[in-house]
Amino acid sequence: MAPPCWCQCDAAGRSSNPPHEAGGTAYFSGVSQLGTDALVLHAFDYRETSRIVRLVTRDAGVLSVVARGARRPKNRFGAGLDLFASGQAQVVMHGTRDLHTLHAFDAAHSRPELGTSLDRFAAASALAELCIRFGQESETGLLYERAVEALDAIVASDPLDVHATGLGAAWRVVAELGFAPTLDSCASCHASLPADADVTFHHRAGGALCATCARQARGGRRLPAEARGTLVSWIGRRPAAVDSTAARSHLRLLREFLEEHLGDGRPLRAFVAWEARQLGRRAK
Ligand SMILES: [Zn+2]
Repeated sequence: MAPPCWCQCDAAGRSSNPPHEAGGTAYFSGVSQLGTDALVLHAFDYRETSRIVRLVTRDAGVLSVVARGARRPKNRFGAGLDLFASGQAQVVMHGTRDLHTLHAFDAAHSRPELGTSLDRFAAASALAELCIRFGQESETGLLYERAVEALDAIVASDPLDVHATGLGAAWRVVAELGFAPTLDSCASCHASLPADADVTFHHRAGGALCATCARQARGGRRLPAEARGTLVSWIGRRPAAVDSTAARSHLRLLREFLEEHLGDGRPLRAFVAWEARQLGRRAK
């Protein structure tokens, strides 16, 4: 007797999915199964009994999946789909459709600490938003690892360093996505920039500009040498502390840089909330 089918068809092969052969990897052209490490970035209710979940996966970048029945009291996902949990996902991939089906999720690591501290939650939510908005552009397959690394760093961070930890992690995700800013040389003419020089950071140019190029470019923000050194440290995976005023300036710089690269006019809500939280702290 053939083993039960991996998808949700009944014994007669009736299913909302197209017909397929049990046990194989590919059911038919355009539908396949994927087992992969995954991290829950976002989840929301869908219809009466289901949830839609955004996952960053090791093998397929960022995916939107529907977890059917996940809102029922007794469901096969249990607490596994909690925000920021990571584990092994089984996904039915529906070809080129944007929404796939989550068949199972075995959480190996939940991160409840991110839900009990507003600072940690703000930083983690922004990291998740960064992955969701840019995840399709991930070509290295390492976005999942950077995202897990980022959330674990925020969990482990000293409460006073959460913003610096989150900012550093976010810039490393940006680097992983392939658009880290140019900081050691001019982003336009490539002249080297002394480490102790204040420069102009120009979002559209992609980083720091020398004085000559800065005069010819519109816009940009003055970036003191110390702040540039902090960015270099963060992207180079070295910790660098910042006070609350500097943290807010760094948050604004990062958000503006991301918005320039997105170019779709849609706000980065979690980044705005993170920035507002930091602003409120400074005003106290
Ligand atoms: Zn230049």
